[in-house]
Amino acid sequence: MKRLDYTCKVSGNSIDRSVYLTFDDGPNPFCTPDILDVLAERRVPATFFVIGAYAADQPELIRRMVAEGHEVGNHTMTHPDLTTCGPEEIEHQITEASKAIKAASPQAEPKHMRAPYGLWNEDVLSISARAGLKAAHWSVDPRDWSRPGVNVIVDAVLDSVQPGAIVLLHDGCPPGELVRHKLSGLRDQTLMALSRVITGLHDRGFVIRLLSQDN
Ligand SMILES: [Zn+2]
Repeated sequence: MKRLDYTCKVSGNSIDRSVYLTFDDGPNPFCTPDILDVLAERRVPATFFVIGAYAADQPELIRRMVAEGHEVGNHTMTHPDLTTCGPEEIEHQITEASKAIKAASPQAEPKHMRAPYGLWNEDVLSISARAGLKAAHWSVDPRDWSRPGVNVIVDAVLDSVQPGAIVLLHDGCPPGELVRHKLSGLRDQTLMALSRVITGLHDRGFVIRLLSQDN
């Protein structure tokens, strides 16, 4: 008798329309609370790839992320390009960031790692895996950090989103790049785009989920 495999179709229905919002380079006391407010208002979960040094400075924001059902991922301790670091420094950057996250909130269990600038090599991948972290890149990048305009950010996401898409947004700024930006208004375009992105995704039948639910 021929066995029919329904598993993909049956269990895949909701997964097929899943998309994931991710925020990098926080937590930032000027930007992250507003982003969290929008997510709470819209009842949408997100995954925050935080910088460990910032997590240590802003532990209450890590606790708020966890309390509001979001996920906290590892984005290294100080945001270096890991492909220019030796294995010891890579390991230090990753393990110290996880420690800082857990010190801020014992309930925060980082499950994913995102390399700064999305720059990976074999060492970064293997050391992340040894630390129990899955590599998480992205598939939709509206370049919100460059402040291209709210409409550009919204359109860039909605024009290229596919089932399973991982959307890259920013709720902060890496330490080395702060001097070039003013802190207030730093992520105002991201904030204004976020609500419209959520509405657009929902209108298209997408379900916004936590990265660790399916990845
Ligand atoms: Zn980053």
